[in-house]
Amino acid sequence: MSLLEVEDLTVAYGPIAAVRGVGLSVAAGEIVAVLGANGAGKSTTLQAITGLLPARRGRVAFDGQPVSGRPAEQIVRLGMTLVPEGRRVFAAMTVEENLRIGGAIRRGRADAARTRDEMLALFPILAARRHQAAGTLSGGEQQMLAIARALMSQPKLLLLDEPSLGLAPQVVEAIFDLLVELRRRGLTLLVVEQNVHMALEIADRAYVIAHGEVAMSGTARDLLASDEIERAYLGHA
Ligand code: ATP
Repeated sequence: MSLLEVEDLTVAYGPIAAVRGVGLSVAAGEIVAVLGANGAGKSTTLQAITGLLPARRGRVAFDGQPVSGRPAEQIVRLGMTLVPEGRRVFAAMTVEENLRIGGAIRRGRADAARTRDEMLALFPILAARRHQAAGTLSGGEQQMLAIARALMSQPKLLLLDEPSLGLAPQVVEAIFDLLVELRRRGLTLLVVEQNVHMALEIADRAYVIAHGEVAMSGTARDLLASDEIERAYLGHA
């Protein structure tokens, strides 16, 4: 059974439908990538799945339960957490305070403290900077913090919107290694990426979104082998 099942998802900004009839599924334990050019509708799709944007039509089911129309906070409680594009850490707050906010939504205090300690062990760089304001961290460190903050809610499914955006190649590699490690620990991942090749290297399957619709989908291996994907849908020469 799928952990996440999305059918016929349509999302509009006023009269303009940015996402039209998108269907996708993610099985427990998978890494699934969502690829596509700028403005294709990838962020809109993630935001509608996680209840941050209302859908005009369609169904989203998580862990066997319908979640369409539920408030975002309830969806996080069910076990689905988004790491937003651009990281959005609370710049004036310390690393530790950012983590506390991530854990506030579902856990008792002792449990939150335990999860925070797990995060500080998983991200030594955050442990070293735990009392530092998040705004003083590098881009890569802020991305780590955004991921750690999302993990504080103890999700089953982590959705990431362009985790590699604006980061140096070495840092991007560290982020992708981390995603693989998280999957090894039992997490399921849905990752929006413009970094097509790296995303396909770690993903099991992928969907290519073009003009708000699923234009292609398949195993990462098949998509890596196809040059059609770049030519047709990703806006490269
Ligand atoms: P990017 O990688 O640039 O974020 P994307 O694939 O995530 O691209 P979306 O951000 O989902 O694409 O945008 C899909 C379409 O919806 C685009 O045409 C965009 O201009 C439009 N759009 C996005 N947000 C809004 C908004 N708040 N109001 C109106 N139109 C929007």
